[in-house]
Amino acid sequence: MVYLRRREEIEAIRKAARLVAQTLKALGQEIHPGVTTADLDRLAEQFIRERGGRPAFKGYRGFPASICPSVNEEVVHAIPGARQLREGDIIGIDVGVEMGGYYGDAAYTFPVGRVTEEAGRLLAVTREALKAGIAQAIAGHRIGDISHAIQSHVESHGFSVVRSLVGHGIGREMHEEPQVPNYGPPERGPRLMAGQVLAIEPMVNGGGPDVVTRDDGWTVVTRDGSLSAHFEHTVAIGTDGPEILSDADGV
Ligand code: MG
Repeated sequence: MVYLRRREEIEAIRKAARLVAQTLKALGQEIHPGVTTADLDRLAEQFIRERGGRPAFKGYRGFPASICPSVNEEVVHAIPGARQLREGDIIGIDVGVEMGGYYGDAAYTFPVGRVTEEAGRLLAVTREALKAGIAQAIAGHRIGDISHAIQSHVESHGFSVVRSLVGHGIGREMHEEPQVPNYGPPERGPRLMAGQVLAIEPMVNGGGPDVVTRDDGWTVVTRDGSLSAHFEHTVAIGTDGPEILSDADGV
């Protein structure tokens, strides 16, 4: 079932998604060597609740925290804890908010202090790949157009796209149909319609595309130990083109 949202519903999703973006922006100012991922989690939960939202990840299928802070070779779904950030790390932070019955979801990968040139390039290429995917989120196009734009951008820069995790529809639930893969041929898959809202989220590895899940049952890491980056936006498909809902002054 694919939902087409009325304007009021899109505005409700925007409220949740904008709080996600503001949370990411606030977290970005706290990222420096010595901070623990649990510190960031506490900050995020307080920030979201003070503004009338609910951290959507907390309790989701038993997940114990409000954010997923994935460091270096961790791809997504890492659990906050005592790990301290170190100079040269990269940290992808995924945040979800429910507000007034609607959901927003976004992620951003931050450098911790100065990072290697390779890590900097991985961040830039992943962010550009998200932008290329969003540019295809137009009524009349197909899901595969988004997927293909992301994959071709990533692979043209020598990086690889994670296959086993995908973007998704979002609205009344955090994960709705359709799935939005980050790879695949263009002009395939469901046709996009105005009023659809999608979470588009490339996960890009510096090495090979394979991932494994750690024994904690949550943390997804690259199989070869290479770095991984993740950027995500909640995007509405409008008649005039894509509209990023998880935007807070350029975050
Ligand atoms: Mg998502």
